[in-house]
Amino acid sequence: MGAGRGPTICRGYITANGGSCMAIVDMSWRSKGACQGLDAEIFYPDNDEQADVAKSVCADCTVRISCLHHALDNREHQGVWGGATASERRRLLRQRRRTA
Ligand code: SF4
Repeated sequence: MGAGRGPTICRGYITANGGSCMAIVDMSWRSKGACQGLDAEIFYPDNDEQADVAKSVCADCTVRISCLHHALDNREHQGVWGGATASERRRLLRQRRRTA
């Protein structure tokens, strides 16, 4: 794991260019998303009322649950992920904390 080299694997973690280790996370679901190839702006509406198009794409997405978990676990603060807007995800996180 020398500094200045490309990404390397170390004990289940990955380093980027000799930097600190980060947990390896399976992000393979992303390439299967129904949003692939669509205009990303669809998924970043100005408000929840303009999120219907994105939500309809997500509704038919086979990786919706993985996408939603990713957004919740990583505190994605913007955009529609897993069919949920940022405010809907904040609500889900509050529910998650209450039931933990
Ligand atoms: S759930 Fe929505 S945002 Fe997530 S990968 Fe599928 S289409 Fe894209």
